[in-house]
Amino acid sequence: MAKSKSVLIVGGGIIGLCSAYYLHKKGLEVTVVDAGNYEGSCSFGNAGMVVPSHFIPLAAPGMITQGIKWMFNPESPFHIKPRLDKGLISWGWKFYKASSEKKVQQAMPVLKELNLISKELYEQIAVDESLEFAFQKKGLVMYCKSLESFQEEIEVAHKANKLGLKTEILDKEDAQSLDPGLKLDIEGAVYFPLDAFLTPNLFMKGLKDKLESDGVKFLRNTEIKGFQVKNNKITGVETPIEVLSADEYVIATGSWSASLLKNLKLSIPLMAGKGYSFVVPNPKAMPEICSILTEARVAVTPMAHGLRFAGTMELAGLDLDINKRRLEGIFKSIPQYFPEFSADDFRDLEIWSGLRPCSPDGMPYIGRFNKYTNLVAATGHSMMGMSLGPVSGKMVSQIITNEKAEVESPLLSVDRYN
Ligand SMILES: Cc1cc2nc3c(=O)[nH]c(=O)nc-3n(C[C@H](O)[C@H](O)[C@H](O)COP(=O)(O)OP(=O)(O)OC[C@H]3O[C@@H](n4cnc5c(N)ncnc54)[C@H](O)[C@@H]3O)c2cc1C
Repeated sequence: MAKSKSVLIVGGGIIGLCSAYYLHKKGLEVTVVDAGNYEGSCSFGNAGMVVPSHFIPLAAPGMITQGIKWMFNPESPFHIKPRLDKGLISWGWKFYKASSEKKVQQAMPVLKELNLISKELYEQIAVDESLEFAFQKKGLVMYCKSLESFQEEIEVAHKANKLGLKTEILDKEDAQSLDPGLKLDIEGAVYFPLDAFLTPNLFMKGLKDKLESDGVKFLRNTEIKGFQVKNNKITGVETPIEVLSADEYVIATGSWSASLLKNLKLSIPLMAGKGYSFVVPNPKAMPEICSILTEARVAVTPMAHGLRFAGTMELAGLDLDINKRRLEGIFKSIPQYFPEFSADDFRDLEIWSGLRPCSPDGMPYIGRFNKYTNLVAATGHSMMGMSLGPVSGKMVSQIITNEKAEVESPLLSVDRYN
């Protein structure tokens, strides 16, 4: 029997793990290598939302003006650490160029399709692998405190309807009866019934354990430092102690992907977008449905082990330090929407921080590089990596086996900035 193709995946977050899952399912010989121990990446402490509702990319008209306003408030949900960094300036310029109505119109159907397929794939994985990760298809609610943002969300709902996504516009009473488990102090809400949510750490551990017992190799605490190349082909990746070789290589190193790929003179512009989360194990009130506190940009998700709140987007480099003022901004915003809570409920909780890999146009990079015959990347999923994990992994497996990918779009090209 012919030996099956071997694939080495660098990075064991949600994207690397889902790539390993679908490649293994196709009978390829898979090894995953990670600088950490498969417990600490951005894919563990996130809000676990699966979001067809997030069809508008981060780079959208109005975002730059809003971002500048937020910059002057130390407790706001967005911040750029001021620094003279060529990479940041060039990323900002690309973000600005991507924020046009025309570009957003092109991106919307692609993001919608990716998210809808991924949601179905989560369902399928749960059944096929008998995995329990608290997957709930109950939708997502955008809660609005002000009339202005309620009207903005209603406009988003209309755009969603045009794309064929169902929405419900709710006044305060309707919103209250949709999720009677917690008291609301809001102007109105928009409900996206097609969204879903899950408990990320349960999914990550469950799938990794399953793959490991099925023979997928997982190398821990092994940082890839560079590549060996011959005639436009990768022949190995370098760890501090050895060279690892395979037929095909997948780069799924999240926020670290841009610097790793620089070794191969490949440019995939990325900025790390830091966010925080914390879990209230026994909350004063437990919602049934996940939600976003619209003006505060705080995500709220009922999980298997409690109620998780997540927020902020700080472009501050690759550091995971916790900014107490910004965290205080999250604490104070919650009681404004959910009056049963007070900021003191959160101050003693353990805080997690993670780095979202943010591309300037808000679209992931998924595909094979033109310059190297056996190198695929899947990264840059920004705020949607958990949601898009399964579809990205499936697409990686299809690209490697030269099949038609689930979604094909030049907007996802890994070479779009090369
Ligand atoms: C507060 C917060 C809330 C979020 N909420 C949601 C949400 O509700 N829904 C959603 O869809 N997304 C959400 N996200 C975004 C989501 O978490 C990310 O998009 C996703 O986790 C990125 O996954 P990844 O696999 O690309 O990267 P990561 O999870 O960061 O994994 C990359 C891995 O690569 C490894 N690595 C890096 N460099 C090397 C190297 N040189 N050699 C070996 N290994 C290396 C790292 O150790 C790491 O394990 C949220 C993020 C944050 C911060």
